[in-house]
Amino acid sequence: MESLKLKSKLLYLLLLVGFGLVVIGLIGYFNIQNIKRHMDTLYFGSLIPLSELNGITDTYNNRLASTIYRWNGHLVDTDQALGDIDLALERIDQLWASYLSHDKRSEEMAYVDYTESQIDSMKRYFGHVRSLIASPDTNHPISLTTLDENIQSIHNTVHRLITYENAAARYEHSILLAGYHNALIQLVLFLGVTLILVMGLAWKIFTRIELQQQQLIASTETLKHLNFKLEQASYTDSLSGLYNRRYFNIVYEREIKRAARSNKPFVFMMLDIDFFKQYNDTYGHLQGDQALQAVAKVLKSTFQRPGDYPFRLGGEEFGVIITDSECKNSRAMGDKVRTNIENLKMEHKGSKVAQVLTVSIGGICIVPNADMGDDALIHAADTNLYAAKERGRNQVVFGNKL
Ligand code: GH3
Ligand code: MG
Ligand code: MG
Repeated sequence: MESLKLKSKLLYLLLLVGFGLVVIGLIGYFNIQNIKRHMDTLYFGSLIPLSELNGITDTYNNRLASTIYRWNGHLVDTDQALGDIDLALERIDQLWASYLSHDKRSEEMAYVDYTESQIDSMKRYFGHVRSLIASPDTNHPISLTTLDENIQSIHNTVHRLITYENAAARYEHSILLAGYHNALIQLVLFLGVTLILVMGLAWKIFTRIELQQQQLIASTETLKHLNFKLEQASYTDSLSGLYNRRYFNIVYEREIKRAARSNKPFVFMMLDIDFFKQYNDTYGHLQGDQALQAVAKVLKSTFQRPGDYPFRLGGEEFGVIITDSECKNSRAMGDKVRTNIENLKMEHKGSKVAQVLTVSIGGICIVPNADMGDDALIHAADTNLYAAKERGRNQVVFGNKL
C-alpha cells in the first residue's frame, strides 16, 4: 500500500466508494423486494383469505340460520326467506371461490378440500331446507336442532381454517420482521466496513499528500540554493574568484544607466600587469597563475564597498567599476591599488620597470549621459591604459573626458 502512487490510491478510493454504493444499493433493492414479497404473501395469502373465511361463517350464522329462524317464527314470509337463502348460498359460493383463488400451501390443501366437501354438503342440506320452506310438510318439519348442529359443524370446520390462516399470517409477519432486521444488520455492517476502509484509505492519501508537499518544499529550497550557487558560479572567474567578464557586461550596462539617471559620476578603470609575458617566461605559467590570484586578492581587499565591483576581464587584465564616488577621488583610488600591488613585492626579474610585479592603470570618471556609445567608457579607459604603458608603466592615467 505504501509503495502505491497517489493516483492509484485515489483510483482505489473511488473504486471503493463506487463499489460500496453499488453493494449498498443492491442490498437495499433485494431486501425491499423481499419485504414486498412477504407483505404480499401476508396480505393476499393470509389477511384477505381470513376476511373471506370470516365472511363465510358470518353468512352461515347471520344470514342462513337467522333467515330460517325468522321464517319459522313467521317474522318473514316464504318468498323473502327463499330469496335470502338463495342470495346467502350464492354469496358463500363467491367467497369460497375467491378464497380458493389465492395461493395455497401444499400442507393445507387436504384441509381445504375437506372444508370444500363440508360446504358442498351444507349446500345440499340448505337445498333440502329450502324445498321444505317452499312446500312445507307437516310430517317432516324443519329440525332446528339439526340446523344448529350443522351450522355449528361448518362453523368449526371453517374456524379451523381461520386458525390456520391466522397462524400463517403470524409466521409471515415474523419472517417479514426477521427479513427487515436482517436487511438493517447487512446495511449497517457493510456501511461500517466501507466507511472504515474509505477513511483508512483517505488517511493514507492525505498523509502521502502531506509528505509529498513537505518533500516538494524541501526540494524547492534545495533548488533555490543550487540556483543561487549556479548563478554565483556563472558570474565568478574560477582562477581569481573575482567577478568574470560576463558579469562585467551586466554590471557595466546597468550601472552606467543608473548613474545617467541619477546624474552621478561613474568610475571605470582597467589594470594590466606589466611585462607579464616575461613573468610567465621566468617563473613558469603556474606561478603566473598564483601572481594573478595575488593581484585579485589585492583588488578585492582594496575595493570592498557595496558599490565597488572588481572584475577579471581576461588574461592578466582586470577592471574595476566604482559607483557612488567623487571624480576627484578616483585617481587616488587607482594609485592606491597600484601601490598595494607594488607593495606585495613579488619578485619580477624580467620586468623592465621594477624589480617587483607592477600594474599599469587606465581610468575614466564621468557623469554618463544617454548619447554615449555603449563601449565609450571602456574605450576611454583602454586608451588611458595604453598611455600609462607608453609613459613607462607602473603608473595611473586618469581622465574626465571621453
Ligand atoms: P605589457 O602588458 O607590459 O605590455 O606586457 P605583457 O607581457 O604583459 O603583455 P601581453 O598582454 O602581450 O602579455 C600578456 C601575457 O599574459 C600573455 C600570457 O602569457 C599571459 N597570460 C594571459 N592569461 C594568463 C593566465 O591565465 N595565466 C597566466 N599564467 N598567464 C596568462
Ligand atoms: Mg595585456
Ligand atoms: Mg601586460
